[in-house]
Amino acid sequence: MSSSPPASPDAPTRLFRSEDELARLPASERIRYRLVSAECRHHANDNIADYIRDGEIDELKAEVQAKMQQVLRALVIDTDSDHNTNETAKRVAKMFIDEVFRGRYVPMPSVTEFPNAERLNELMIVGPITVRSACSHHLCPILGKVWIGLLPNEHSNLIGLSKYARICDWIMSRPQIQEEAVTMLANELQARVRPDGLAIVMEADHFCMHWRGVKDNESAMVNSVMRGAFLKDANLRREFLSLLPRKQG
Ligand SMILES: [Zn+2]
Repeated sequence: MSSSPPASPDAPTRLFRSEDELARLPASERIRYRLVSAECRHHANDNIADYIRDGEIDELKAEVQAKMQQVLRALVIDTDSDHNTNETAKRVAKMFIDEVFRGRYVPMPSVTEFPNAERLNELMIVGPITVRSACSHHLCPILGKVWIGLLPNEHSNLIGLSKYARICDWIMSRPQIQEEAVTMLANELQARVRPDGLAIVMEADHFCMHWRGVKDNESAMVNSVMRGAFLKDANLRREFLSLLPRKQG
């Protein structure tokens, strides 16, 4: 009887594993196994909810807590005597999974779409939507605002105003890169609403520019995506941009 060499925990393995074997792995390895088997990308800003089963979110939190405790230990912080950091690993694990990176682990919020019965075909602007994200490079906060411009047609599906904010939050609550975040949001809205034109502007403050690096206090970054009518029609684009109550500068 030959035995295969033990797989390193980080090596993506395509070897078939039985449910019993999977059950003995840490939840992160089990989920990674499913992702790799399905050849599903799982970068920082990808949603992986389809590969997570009931109860595994709590297992992930426990794993992150244990590793975060090791990070604090590596930083030579005496978490046993220091009452301030005693529960920090647990707090950070909860914050990552339940709050700031939640958009990776939960399915998209359910959104009801309505047919455009009134045949609205005028420029619609939603925003400013407050967004909270984190940069993929340093996991530092990104805080900002998003404006969405839509030019619906008679075949567009309309969604309730509050749903734009919920979809936006779901996409932003991941380690992100601002340019990729606005593109992801545009793809999601394009697929759902199917407007003739879609415009998104995001203006955000990147804390990795304040807290570290150049310590620059004027570091707002602005990104936009223009699709369909907003690309072709300069007047429409100008109208949208002129209606954004952004600070002039
Ligand atoms: Zn950064």
